Amino acid sequence: MDIVKGNMGWIEVVVGPMFSGKSEELIRRMRRAEIARQRVQIFKPAIDERYAANEIVSHSGLGISSDNVTKASEIMEKLSPRTEVIGIDEAQFLGEEIVDVCTKLANLGKRVIVAGLDTDYRGRPFEPMPRLLAIAEEITKLLAICMRCGNPAVHTQRLVESEELIVVGAGGMYEARCRRCFEPNPALAQEKKDAGPQLMIRNRTASAGGAGN
Ligand code: ADP
Ligand code: ZN
Repeated sequence: MDIVKGNMGWIEVVVGPMFSGKSEELIRRMRRAEIARQRVQIFKPAIDERYAANEIVSHSGLGISSDNVTKASEIMEKLSPRTEVIGIDEAQFLGEEIVDVCTKLANLGKRVIVAGLDTDYRGRPFEPMPRLLAIAEEITKLLAICMRCGNPAVHTQRLVESEELIVVGAGGMYEARCRRCFEPNPALAQEKKDAGPQLMIRNRTASAGGAGN
């Protein structure tokens, strides 16, 4: 955002898979606002208690204090009127309501910085992030490093078997994967691995048969 006149608010969205540096980027922007002596408030859903109750902590250990909210409307309740910059982490856990809340905040003249996962463990758009992307003034898409091959990673690979959309955790439960190494269904990926040699034998038999005809 280069030219902003008067007290106009706006929405910045930071998306990407897990480990792409969304929390780091949110913390960086909030710290810079603090250095500029702006009043800031930072929120995260209470569901994410990976590291600390009242703190956002990145996977690399950077931290900033935050307020826990159980639903998006709590942000409006906890908002101090003098706050100029509002940071929200893990917004994918706050439901559709977060879209209205961000709109209201921006319309009040606040700078809103929202970070969250844009796709889920199956690689599908993770609501409400796509809606936030649609109404944002500025979008930053970050990539992680694929843990299999080192390429740019756009996906969050779930390593444990579960059909639940939300399984909170990081250590050993998820890793970043590029589009080539991503296996959208961990259960099927496991089956495929188990069936691998048989499939090869079957293929060999089929081609041998074909050659004989
Ligand atoms: P996010 O909020 O997107 O999950 P974080 O900001 O918490 O990401 O963490 C980003 C940091 O995680 C990186 O700076 C790096 O130190 C570390 N990291 C661990 N695994 C990876 C990976 N596969 N790709 C990139 N960074 C990783
Ligand atoms: Zn890869």
